[in-house]
Amino acid sequence: MSTILSSLRKAPDSGGSLVAYSDRKDVEKKKKIVVLGTGWAGISFLKDLDLSSYDVQVVSPQNYFAFTPLLPSVTCGTVEARSIVEPVRNIVNKKRGEIQLWEADCVKIDPANHKVHCRPAFEDDPVANQDFSLQYDFLVIAVGAQVNTFGTPGVSENCYFLKEVDDAQRIRRGVIDCFEKAVLPGLTEEQRRTKLHFVIVGGGPTGVEFAAELHDFIQEDIIPLYPTVRNLVKITLIQSGDHILNMFDERISSFAEHKFLRDGIDVQTGVRVTGVSDKDISVKIKSTGEVCSIPHGLIVWSTGIATRPVIRDLMEQVGQGGRRVLATDEWLRVKGCENVYAIGDCASITQRKIMEDIAMIFEVADKDKSGTLTVEEFQDVVEDILVRYPQVEHFLKSKHLRNVTDLLADPEGNAKKEVDINGFKLALSEVDSQMKSLPATAQVAAQQGSYVAQCLSKVEVCKEHPEGPMRFRDGKHHQFRPFQYIQAPGPICSIGRGASSCGTARRLGFCRKKHTMVMVFCVCQQASELADEGLGGVRLDKKVHIWEGFKPHLSHKWIIRPMRLC
Ligand SMILES: Cc1cc2nc3c(=O)[nH]c(=O)nc-3n(C[C@H](O)[C@H](O)[C@H](O)COP(=O)(O)OP(=O)(O)OC[C@H]3O[C@@H](n4cnc5c(N)ncnc54)[C@H](O)[C@@H]3O)c2cc1C
Repeated sequence: MSTILSSLRKAPDSGGSLVAYSDRKDVEKKKKIVVLGTGWAGISFLKDLDLSSYDVQVVSPQNYFAFTPLLPSVTCGTVEARSIVEPVRNIVNKKRGEIQLWEADCVKIDPANHKVHCRPAFEDDPVANQDFSLQYDFLVIAVGAQVNTFGTPGVSENCYFLKEVDDAQRIRRGVIDCFEKAVLPGLTEEQRRTKLHFVIVGGGPTGVEFAAELHDFIQEDIIPLYPTVRNLVKITLIQSGDHILNMFDERISSFAEHKFLRDGIDVQTGVRVTGVSDKDISVKIKSTGEVCSIPHGLIVWSTGIATRPVIRDLMEQVGQGGRRVLATDEWLRVKGCENVYAIGDCASITQRKIMEDIAMIFEVADKDKSGTLTVEEFQDVVEDILVRYPQVEHFLKSKHLRNVTDLLADPEGNAKKEVDINGFKLALSEVDSQMKSLPATAQVAAQQGSYVAQCLSKVEVCKEHPEGPMRFRDGKHHQFRPFQYIQAPGPICSIGRGASSCGTARRLGFCRKKHTMVMVFCVCQQASELADEGLGGVRLDKKVHIWEGFKPHLSHKWIIRPMRLC
């Protein structure tokens, strides 16, 4: 009762009437954040956000986080599906402060009214299926991407995908079914061969890892169970480009191709799939234009990612309809919206070109307004330039220059004391060619989630004390530093088991400790071959995941790489 009475007070200018308001001003003041998605980006955001100033609502059709790098291993049972998922409620319950979680899809984002419209993920339930809307002060979009079929006819109906945990389990069942069908009586040898023809479309890391896992799975676990069809199995990897793993160093892709050749995996490069039916896959050989049809037992389609419909719709609303992917600025704010961030695979950063601002930079840097820029004047703004335009640093590295002022040197490399605006433009004219988009990886998504959480956690502090680089337009400072991706030591792609150390690796199995996952990679014999080639890395053989304190047997070579699970 006292609580109710305390919230009924005389309003100062209300002429004696009573108005009701809450004593819990701290609660009222909290801004509302809505987060869409509980993948790498969304979970990393939730984990790092300081909840003291925010009420958070999370919308996701999955109430778990999936450790996607291990999905290929789930397809073959090397790792159990339950080992790579973590309930989101477990994760958020560990935070101080309240986070509400709604198991639903966001079906429409309405940036003009700061609202999202959602549909519960229980279509068949007659009660728990009512659409609802949420109002936000800040929206964090982290819905990832969907499989890209490039509109190829028959793909959605006849192919397996490898994107979600359910997909991996479906593939596992599908592979076993192919063997069960192939050993039934009454089939011709040709029919058995077709049932046991496994085709993977897409020679990127996911397709390659799956092909390697499938090969090991079939050779070691399945063939002993179905010995009569051991010689009829075939794995084909189709890649439209000239090489598989073509985003890696070319020596790595050729190493993978040779390994697959030795393993008997048929790698078809320069081949484009034009259609898929339940029996055949139609392909066109790019060099000759020849069209042919390949019978298959099971196809896994892994050719990259595309924008989800809810993001496409948002792009139309904010004037980004002509783009392939949602654009954000360097602070991960969606262009054309207010207080909307997009992180992870659903968006891409549009980096501002230094040449767009070159005149302003010159004007600000030329403190004495002499019309020329001395090295000292340039040095005063270098730090801001490097933070605001990261392509400058990439350019310096690519040209093996030690510092930015080296850019002012003449073509013979002689240092110049000062430059005019034209000389300044010339010095920086090639820098923008080094702008790169970030890869769609878990590492990028997780770092972006963490970055936005940190910005929102210190929004008030940074209003008073901006920490970002100088805004050359007006000489003031940006509130925050732009997002900067910290490259982890090289991408990894497992290409299956090599000749040595493998039996042990396999028996170790998988386990996990709290939220730290320690990945232990058993290195195969060929590791040294690659290191000899100066790749500075090793070819990884079989991945196993073990307790943090585990001490691997000293007779094996191991790489231990800690990974944050969430
Ligand atoms: C098989 C496989 C292996 C991979 N291996 C690696 C690897 O080894 N290393 C690496 O760095 N990266 C790897 N990746 C890529 C990595 O998984 C992605 O880059 C990463 O998941 C992107 O994170 P995200 O948060 O943007 O999206 P996701 O992790 O895909 O999360 C998206 C979230 O949004 C939810 N969602 C979807 N639609 C909606 C909607 N309408 N409303 C609300 N929520 C929605 C989803 O349920 C999900 O929770 C792999 C990917 C796959 C598929």
